[in-house]
Amino acid sequence: MSIDENVREIRERIAAAAASAGRDPSEITLVAASKMNPAEKVVEAKNAGITVFGENKVQELLGKKALGAYEGAELHLIGHLQKNKVRQIVGQCDVIQSVDSPELLRMISAKAETLGIVQKILLEVNIGGEKSKTGATPDQVRVILDAAQTAKGVSVEGLMAIPPSQENNPEKINYFAKMYQLFVDISAEKYDNVTMRILSMGMSADFEDAIREGANMVRVGTSIFGARNYQV
Ligand SMILES: *Cc1c(COP(=O)(O)O)cnc(C)c1O
Repeated sequence: MSIDENVREIRERIAAAAASAGRDPSEITLVAASKMNPAEKVVEAKNAGITVFGENKVQELLGKKALGAYEGAELHLIGHLQKNKVRQIVGQCDVIQSVDSPELLRMISAKAETLGIVQKILLEVNIGGEKSKTGATPDQVRVILDAAQTAKGVSVEGLMAIPPSQENNPEKINYFAKMYQLFVDISAEKYDNVTMRILSMGMSADFEDAIREGANMVRVGTSIFGARNYQV
């Protein structure tokens, strides 16, 4: 199937999942996760109506950006951000979705202030408590939110998560529901400089479940672009 057909199918599935949860499909933002896909594929997806792209690596994002791949679309960093890359990424994308420590938040804020901008960010939550994964625990999220209150160079817009896969979840805990609850709880706690507007969760294998549990942003790669070629 072509990227165009894939995007159409994903949009239909998003609309159906939203409708089944009594939600308006227009509330759900589809982010095309374009890692390991070249600039031409990004442009093809843009022509198929994709308006937001997510990249994992700073270098790859900057490389494709220099080619004009994302022009006219929004661009998010969705992969882990190393502290030594902060300088390069701040101001180069619309949203950094993967902030998982107070130190990282402060570094982003400081760089944004030197540029005279406010960088939008999401806080990444390791909701399954998996050792192999990045992201903050729910307790650590509160510490980061505290740090955000005095960080003038950032605006916290919501939460992001990559919950455990089904094989890593033998008890079948509903991590999407847990994330939604955290999102609701934090929305009720008043922090300066924080608006809980975005809940980014759900990928190719599970975006419909995520939408049914309250996600308003899903990040889909394989189902749009096809399987990634890791030999690249
Ligand atoms: C690759 C990736 C996705 C998309 O994954 P697919 O299974 O290909 O849809 C979403 N979020 C993050 C953070 C990713 O790295």
